[in-house]
Amino acid sequence: MKPALIVHAGAWKIPEATHADHIAGIRAAAEAGWAILASGGSALDAVETAVSIMEDDPTFDAGVGSVLNRVGEIELDAMIMDGSTLQLGAVAAVRGITNPVKLARLIVEDTDHSLLVGDGARRFAELKGMRLCAQAELTVPREVERYRKLQEVPDYRLSDGFTPDTPGPWDTVGAAAMDMHGNLAAATSTGGVHYKLPGRVGDSPLVGSGAYADNQTGAASATGHGESIMRVVLSKTATDAIGHGKSAQAAAEYAVRTMYERVGGYGGIILVDYRGEIAFAFNTPHMAVAWVDVDGQVQAHLKTRQSAP
Ligand code: ASP
Repeated sequence: MKPALIVHAGAWKIPEATHADHIAGIRAAAEAGWAILASGGSALDAVETAVSIMEDDPTFDAGVGSVLNRVGEIELDAMIMDGSTLQLGAVAAVRGITNPVKLARLIVEDTDHSLLVGDGARRFAELKGMRLCAQAELTVPREVERYRKLQEVPDYRLSDGFTPDTPGPWDTVGAAAMDMHGNLAAATSTGGVHYKLPGRVGDSPLVGSGAYADNQTGAASATGHGESIMRVVLSKTATDAIGHGKSAQAAAEYAVRTMYERVGGYGGIILVDYRGEIAFAFNTPHMAVAWVDVDGQVQAHLKTRQSAP
């Protein structure tokens, strides 16, 4: 089968000054993922590689460049899922590693568990010989500055009056792919939301919310307001809609519309269906998406919402 790949790096009002960096980052990720798929590699390897490249890119809220929580710490969430076996690996609120998606992959390969959190996840990383890092290695000046400003706001609560214009970043990264054997995979990685409470876990490592993959329907990765995404189990809602006969594009739009109508949520989703059709939908002002077109060329775009949510 012809492989398919789509990646994203968040959906929000992405500041114009960072559009070029977003586009360059998603392009690099899509190119690396595609190189794996084009040479016969697995969808799982492709999404892991694409996401880890975006984790290394300080532009995004994942790995290096992640947001700081309320006590000035970086806690990372990630998930990877294999659509051929429905196996998944996820980590939540883990500190001191650069590539949580790689740790999530090790959970798939080397454990009979699905989700490890906090210190346990970090201990597992150490056990597997992953390099542990100091928080300074993940921290960028942009996020220190944001943190300092937020500290000056009394009783800051992100969920109060959440709108598509709510200040970001909402730069979670993700990928969905189909390989030559028709196997699907999805991965998502994030630093979560800025100024979150310590221990807050978003949608990204929750199966069916931040990602889902099933060879019989589709592979999806989500971004946006995590508390809304998890309430409608956004990724599974989208892949189930494919199972009920919707096209990939109709399913992506249906899932985002459902989130808005049921819980007033904002965000976006990427999808690859079991036929290799790719799609994305979002109800925020922008979404950063890259995919590989029918000629094998990477298309990387900062998309602007055309209509009201
Ligand atoms: N969904 C992520 C979270 O709530 C944030 C994002 O998409 O940027 O943790």
